[in-house]
Amino acid sequence: MHARYEEFMSANTELFEVGTVTRVFEYGAYLDLSKTQRIGYLHISALGGVYTTPPLSDKLQIGDAVPVVVRGFDPKHNCWEVSHKEYLNQKSLELLGLKKGDVRSVIIREASEVRTTVQIEGSVAYLYPPQHPWSKYRVLLESKRLMEGNSVQVEVGNWDAKSGGLLVHLPNVLVHGVLGAAHQGRVMLHRSNYVKKKYKLQSVIYASFGDDLIARVELTDILDVESAFPVGSVVPIILGNCDPYTGLFDAQIVWERTAFHLPNVVTLGEVREAPIIWVSPYGARCLIDNRVIGFMHKSSVIGSVPEHLNQHLHPGDLAEIRVTEGRDQTHGTYKVEFLRLLDRFADPEETGEPEVIDLESVRRSGTKGGFSREANFRWNVLEAYDHCCCVCGLRFSIGEASAMEAAHVVPRSHRGSNVIRNALCLCPIHHWAFDRGLLTIDDERQIRIAASVRALGDGSVWLTALHGQEAALAVDAPVSRAALVWHRRNIFLDG
Ligand SMILES: [Zn+2]
Repeated sequence: MHARYEEFMSANTELFEVGTVTRVFEYGAYLDLSKTQRIGYLHISALGGVYTTPPLSDKLQIGDAVPVVVRGFDPKHNCWEVSHKEYLNQKSLELLGLKKGDVRSVIIREASEVRTTVQIEGSVAYLYPPQHPWSKYRVLLESKRLMEGNSVQVEVGNWDAKSGGLLVHLPNVLVHGVLGAAHQGRVMLHRSNYVKKKYKLQSVIYASFGDDLIARVELTDILDVESAFPVGSVVPIILGNCDPYTGLFDAQIVWERTAFHLPNVVTLGEVREAPIIWVSPYGARCLIDNRVIGFMHKSSVIGSVPEHLNQHLHPGDLAEIRVTEGRDQTHGTYKVEFLRLLDRFADPEETGEPEVIDLESVRRSGTKGGFSREANFRWNVLEAYDHCCCVCGLRFSIGEASAMEAAHVVPRSHRGSNVIRNALCLCPIHHWAFDRGLLTIDDERQIRIAASVRALGDGSVWLTALHGQEAALAVDAPVSRAALVWHRRNIFLDG
């Protein structure tokens, strides 16, 4: 047997053979190999194409000629193991002038979630996405790089006798020693989501560099990552390793080695009113503005807080803070110190009300029953205000039918909660103006119209006439001051 193996190894220059079927069984067949006068055994799994279900005798008959590739000696059957499938693979590639592993630039004919069809050397080739939700394939598809007419680099795989096409895949570049190499990446895509455990906002940027390679950069706590890193902008990155499964490189932004910085939207020493969004025993995060989060360590509150910070501050509380350190380039947060508490958010356990800023809403958005919850919320708000617009005082309702609207002060899109403390009853016109930041309500309950609207003169009198008037806020269910501060800062045009 050993000698036979050596014979094979020395004589394997001619692996292609034509075998004549001499006996057929349910799962295999014996063949006389014409060139080398040897006996070959073909297992059903090595037949390829559509002929893969037994019995084999249905597909092959004695005397049939089958082109095969000799794989090696099979001691079990005491003969040469041959394969028709590999013959198809190799011969088809040969005819196209291709080798498995070749990398070619090809033109895309059609691209979808299911598969992408490309043209290579006049033949159709298929590119299938890996299972991973964020593979290189999906990044390219989502960023519109996999699109009809575009060109893409692919690596030649096997011939698929079943579909009559070639299988290709995106080259998996396993570069060793890239750890620490610096590159210019071009931003292609963003993804953001909350990490359950710590209420941290995790954002991911996908950036292309080099020859169609893609880096995956993780960032934490940068709220508006899309405006910080617009699609198409260039970011300096330091590469980690390539994940062979997704085909993406792990990378970090090179903060310290370049002049690249996130835009500073807050100046040092600035004093602001900031809603608390997260508290632990040792520190708290607050929303300085819609783009940035501040972090205050427990030590900055010391004196007033002897023990655990979360016993004294709650999400939804409004604090006055001072910015003490610029943006932490790893976490994206500013360091702030706590000056004083401006508005205490009622303990949710006492009032049964959730926070005004509902960090969990993102996670809950897929749950059932959201519609009826919204409907209840609307009705409760309308009742609290007796169906009157708190800006103009008009009451557009007939019996049970009401045209009035429950406006979120912190909008749902900014994780505002469905609670009365985060709501105003407005008529459709003033709801429209409120959501666009044309009007807001200040700490003295006065309606304020944006300066740019007031500058328009006569055309906007219907709105500007309200400037300085008192808003008719519900007495029993007052709106949260923190929510109004948030609206003034983030939605109101003068904010
Ligand atoms: Zn109104």
